[in-house]
Amino acid sequence: MRFPFHVSALDPGSRARRGALDTPHGRIETPVFMAVGTRASVTGLTPAELHEVGAEVVLGNTYHLMLRPGPDLFRRVGGIHRFMGWNGPMLTDSGGYQIFSLSADRVISERGARFRSYTNQQFHMLSPEASIAMQEAIGADIMMVLDVCVDARSDEATTRAAMQRTHRWALRSLAARTGTPQALFAIMQGGIFPGLRRESAAFLTDHPFDGFAIGGLAVGDTRAEREDITHMAADLLPADRPRYLMGVGTPPDLLHAILAGVDMFDCILPTSLAWQGTAFTSTGRVKLMRASTRDDDRPLDAACACSTCKLYTRAYLHHLFRCGEPLGPRLVSLHNLHHYHALMAEARAAIAAGRFATYARDKLEAIDRYEHSDRRIGATA
Ligand SMILES: [Zn+2]
Repeated sequence: MRFPFHVSALDPGSRARRGALDTPHGRIETPVFMAVGTRASVTGLTPAELHEVGAEVVLGNTYHLMLRPGPDLFRRVGGIHRFMGWNGPMLTDSGGYQIFSLSADRVISERGARFRSYTNQQFHMLSPEASIAMQEAIGADIMMVLDVCVDARSDEATTRAAMQRTHRWALRSLAARTGTPQALFAIMQGGIFPGLRRESAAFLTDHPFDGFAIGGLAVGDTRAEREDITHMAADLLPADRPRYLMGVGTPPDLLHAILAGVDMFDCILPTSLAWQGTAFTSTGRVKLMRASTRDDDRPLDAACACSTCKLYTRAYLHHLFRCGEPLGPRLVSLHNLHHYHALMAEARAAIAAGRFATYARDKLEAIDRYEHSDRRIGATA
């Protein structure tokens, strides 16, 4: 099902665009960062807290949810929104990346991926049809096709074979839908080979997908390769449908991709790093396990409006991490997600005002400066 997608502003100095995607669970303002809630939970945070930090879309994962709790439960309760208490838009990944990354005990054939469950050791088959059936049971607003992801260092023949199978699986995914009010996005593959990326875009955009994702990046490629491919890939996708860069990344990655015309992002970094005690701030990353934060009575980020920064000091957060108190990672997760969503809100405002290219350049320079000074401090801490 095609959701209305409107581009409301184009940045005169770059390919950046401001838009909105209307889903049955509300409007997604783009560019958007999607919080990762792999197992129907953004670890440690409640839906009310997600709304509070500005989350617009939550992402669930088909592979994990298929193994536990399984499709029957979602059918019984009427879908993931009701199950987890999140009433905003949701997207489910297809499981393609998990098949790629959990390489033990799995065999991929034309039919699909046969793998052993980590929950009960039984064998499962994740095919394009099984992924769509599971995603329809989960009931997220946006579904993704099952794709074949390969390491970015694979040779061209291997990358081409994976891309061609991804295309065949994409058509099987389209055919497997039963008419639920959900959108289906295709995933472009082709690794770091421009010719393959062009082929992948030409094939997929010939079919009625509701949006297009750029897959197969952040899997062993360099930052320069990722930026080059993102720029060329975004340009190959139709202007009237959302473009989604999967699994990428840091604030600079997001700014570069917005410059290229990408609308949607997801990444585990803000939440996974929070659980390791690392915060993204307007003056670089802060590592709360370091002794240097033990007597630091400043907020995590004086420029941040989140509840963590309003109420707590770095010293308190350091103490929570040292003691293994779960409040520590929760508070830093809230801050990190707020930081990412605030960055996207700033980006949207800058695009609407026609000054995104300048905004992004200044922001990238500032981040670069702080990350370098952080490395110098890190060497002596
Ligand atoms: Zn904060």
